Amino acid sequence: MKQIYLDNAATTQMRPEALEAMMPHLTEAYGNASSIYPLGEEAAATLAEARRTVAQAINADDREVYFTSGGSESDNWALIATAEAYESKGRHIVTSAIEHHAILHTAEYLEKRGFEITYVPVDEFGIVSPAALEAAMRPDTILVSIMFANNEIGTVEPLAELAKIAHAHGALFHTDAVQAFGHLPIDVKEMGIDMLSASAHKIYGPKGTGLLYMRKGVRSKAFIHGGQQERGLRAGTENVAGIVGFAKATELALAEQAEEAARLCELRDYAIERIEREIPHSRLNGHRRERLPNNVNFSFEFIEGEGMLLQLAFKGVSASSGSACTSGSLDPSHVLLAIGLPHEIAHGSLRLTLGRDTTREDVDYTIDALKGTIENLRAMSPLYEDFLKDQKKAS
Ligand SMILES: *Cc1c(COP(=O)(O)O)cnc(C)c1O
Repeated sequence: MKQIYLDNAATTQMRPEALEAMMPHLTEAYGNASSIYPLGEEAAATLAEARRTVAQAINADDREVYFTSGGSESDNWALIATAEAYESKGRHIVTSAIEHHAILHTAEYLEKRGFEITYVPVDEFGIVSPAALEAAMRPDTILVSIMFANNEIGTVEPLAELAKIAHAHGALFHTDAVQAFGHLPIDVKEMGIDMLSASAHKIYGPKGTGLLYMRKGVRSKAFIHGGQQERGLRAGTENVAGIVGFAKATELALAEQAEEAARLCELRDYAIERIEREIPHSRLNGHRRERLPNNVNFSFEFIEGEGMLLQLAFKGVSASSGSACTSGSLDPSHVLLAIGLPHEIAHGSLRLTLGRDTTREDVDYTIDALKGTIENLRAMSPLYEDFLKDQKKAS
């Protein structure tokens, strides 16, 4: 059976060039970058080169990039270590209601340690308005953390404007750019970003590797204690192979970015148009233009997301629902609730995230499968039956 992977926001398949670049470092080039003999020096030089590649990708200095184990660690570091380094200045942090759990759960952790967190609401498209951020700022705000682009509904935030507001109030600005890094142009200097999180496995690199960018001058406590790796802030022997794969994936993502983004935007809009035209009672979630090139997110009335995912999987389509059902909870997604969807509609949501191997044929197959799936589920839905009865009465 045809297999179509449309969950590239969850993870991506590593590209062969990244694996090829990694191989020597998993085999003969196994040195520890802290050692002084040639095998160690070779590893140190490899790390330095990789650091230059990823730093250049966001217009940062090499010394402003710290390698981590991925997006979650970078988000934890940005919030926790900054909170500790600046707590004499204030104990208030601002973030948004639609952040990834790596931010939200870290914020909750800090709340238990005596920090105050304000969760800025978003509008119906998932945008954090500059006015809403302005209203949340206080004299004791030390940090603002707003994601670059949302992983569920694809909304791209007005980052430069938001950073300006943070700075006007003397706070630092961090962004979880895991969904944007490599996919959208990023210039940390031009956009006023003080800290940024990115992850390799969202850009066709290996899992377990990421980075935290920290502008020169930003204070940070050590996040992992031990050796002197990562300028003494993140101890532990470096994952040289993973970092090399990350750098290779970054280099290629940048070289292909403009062309691939244009291709994906066209496919994305084609998918959105077909769904809106062919599936009644559907609603696009997120912003129509300020949107990641690969993100399609819809709610379908009168159905339940879990059933939709299972039927799609049965037809060979791997997708994800907007809800957290899959993690064992029946709560609908905090992101869909934050944009104002009622519970029952948030439950019937679907996220399709396209990737570098997605073709128009894949999109057509998926939407054909989706149409059948939704018809099936609605035929069994008591909610839909009630709706049809009401409609009949009204006419
Ligand atoms: C995937 C993701 C993360 C987590 O990154 P990992 O490398 O898997 O830890 C954090 N934030 C966003 C927005 C993500 O999409």
